[in-house]
Amino acid sequence: CGIIGYVGDDDETLSVLLDGLSNLEYRGYDSAGVAVGGDGLRVEKRAGQLDALETALDGDGGAFAGPVGIAHTRWSTHGPPTDANAHPHTDASGRVAVVHNGIIENYRDLRDELEADGVTFASETDTEVVPHLVAQELRRGRDPEAAVRATTDRLEGSYALAVVVAGTDALFAVRHDSPLVLGVGDGECFVASDVPAFLERTRDVVYLDDDEFVRLDAEGWTVTDAEGSVVDKDVRTVEWEA
Ligand code: GLU
Repeated sequence: CGIIGYVGDDDETLSVLLDGLSNLEYRGYDSAGVAVGGDGLRVEKRAGQLDALETALDGDGGAFAGPVGIAHTRWSTHGPPTDANAHPHTDASGRVAVVHNGIIENYRDLRDELEADGVTFASETDTEVVPHLVAQELRRGRDPEAAVRATTDRLEGSYALAVVVAGTDALFAVRHDSPLVLGVGDGECFVASDVPAFLERTRDVVYLDDDEFVRLDAEGWTVTDAEGSVVDKDVRTVEWEA
């Protein structure tokens, strides 16, 4: 029920993500997980409270350094709260990782189609179709941004999604009937389902509208509409206390 994504300093990624999850705990959740990208992609996820995730990461944190990361607290809608059903979800090659809030209403049809193509699923969630679809688009030769766009074109339902692709120092996020905000820091950027996730690091916020897509990388951020045209967004400074 909560998403946080980060692009910034390699050594801060994991702690920013875990702090973000802790700041989103008020929304309720039954599982939590993180993925850190860059050259490769590392994923850890657990059913239960954040403690369970932190214990799983204990001593392993160094492996989770990288310029880009996503994290999630899950409120299960499809599939019980298990480690396998926790987000992030990945494709079979472990190249694509996705966190999702909401419900993919047409996931059954998409799953049947992917399974008919030989894709093996690792969870019972509606969400898992997303990384498999992105991976399929990458195999068709699309670049990561185009692959995420082509995937969202196929989704029905509600979603805030954040996606990382191994070998790409960028984060892609999009929303449809589910909240998503962008935080603009000093040499770092955030996406989250709500402002408190990153308020300790920046108060400069861009409120994304429905069907807007954002790309974050070391150069900064770009918001585009569903057709891919750049949208000129206002950065607002949040005054209220967390
Ligand atoms: N429908 C997804 C699931 O059951 C996402 C739930 C959420 O918003 O946390 O895993």
